[in-house]
Amino acid sequence: MSHQWITVLGATGSIGVSTLDVVGRHPDRYRVFALTGHSRMDVLLNQCITHDPLYAVVSEAGQCARLQEQLLQAGCQTRVLHGAEALAEVSSDQRVDAVMAAIVGAAGLSPTLAAVRAGKRVLLANKEALVMSGALFMQAVRDSGARLLPIDSEHNAIFQCMPGNYANGLQQVGVRRILLTASGGPFRETALEDLARVTPAQACAHPNWSMGQKISVDSASMMNKGLELIEACWLFDARPDQVEVVVHPQSVVHSLVDYVDGSVLAQLGNPDMRTPIAHALAWPERIDSGVSALDLLLTARLDFQAPDPLRFPCLGLARQAFESGGTACAILNAANEVAVQAFLDRRIGFTDIPVMIEHALNSLSPEPVRELAQVMLADRQARDCAEQWLANQA
Ligand code: NDP
Ligand code: MG
Repeated sequence: MSHQWITVLGATGSIGVSTLDVVGRHPDRYRVFALTGHSRMDVLLNQCITHDPLYAVVSEAGQCARLQEQLLQAGCQTRVLHGAEALAEVSSDQRVDAVMAAIVGAAGLSPTLAAVRAGKRVLLANKEALVMSGALFMQAVRDSGARLLPIDSEHNAIFQCMPGNYANGLQQVGVRRILLTASGGPFRETALEDLARVTPAQACAHPNWSMGQKISVDSASMMNKGLELIEACWLFDARPDQVEVVVHPQSVVHSLVDYVDGSVLAQLGNPDMRTPIAHALAWPERIDSGVSALDLLLTARLDFQAPDPLRFPCLGLARQAFESGGTACAILNAANEVAVQAFLDRRIGFTDIPVMIEHALNSLSPEPVRELAQVMLADRQARDCAEQWLANQA
């Protein structure tokens, strides 16, 4: 078999590093076409030296010149490009077989859509891109014939438990419900009155997963599960009432599919993102991911609980935004991105995150979406609205 060319968007992040770990285990199968980074230039330099991609993409011209110089000194042939157009080019180049979409947040939307429109195999980690642009994104997948494979561990689990023809509609294939598991994050048992004072370091100390800062805070607030609920509705053409969130603190059952005959299928595994990454890279085949076998005797217990709406108001806000439709999910996502950054910068408390998002959702009316420009406008307006809220607190 000839090798496949892979572009890794967001190579320097948590998912990017795990992707390169899996890719590096299969040099006969995969070659790296392009790697992209934004601020961690030292990591990108080392990744280029190890994986010898044809291209590296950075955000700014100054970084580009410096990295190119360092790579030449290291005897590495990688060509360094910069800017949004270059991101889209390495995502859509005709030589590329698969694109790992692992830039965090709204910044990943354009290059991910470029990969989709070019009909690539798209490994989707960047859930924010799909949440923002839902219907447009899925229409682009259908129009181009791109193969969309979920990397989010829950959605990858659901994909593994679904029959092949699920695109015909959940009812047609006998699916009653999707059960989306949530770890409950680091504050699952924190006294409610203490939540206002938790620190960014505590929020980023996830009990089971090691992840980037933004998704770690989202996991602590359960906005991550809210975004994933929306993601599941788009990926599997489900109504929100067909997706139930279940708190499962061990993060061993990655999600479940409940069928009308009473069968419930689940995917289990150690909490390590290399499993869904390897699954999506090789699908429909299976390859070694480097993840050790699950020891069920060591796991011993699997607990399940209903999420507490008082503790996790972000989950309800996400459901509300999806039900409002149009640009509401873009507003939700943008306000959340601003709120999470403000929390990480210690400008607001943890419990201000849902307050800020609710403010944006209540202040801006959702518009129907016909083109991407409307999504980008809603994103901008929601960021301005959230910034204004912040300014009013100062
Ligand atoms: P990280 O913060 O670890 O990595 C983010 C990546 O995006 C980095 O490569 C970063 O570059 C790059 N980046 C950040 N801002 C920009 C920008 N403005 N322009 C271009 N590139 C940018 O995040 P994760 O790897 O944890 O998450 C990535 C995505 O995957 C998110 O959407 C997340 O929700 C999703 N995901 C992550 C999981 C995980 O286990 N980590 C699980 C499921 C989904 P640099 O570091 O060089 O600044
Ligand atoms: Mg997830």
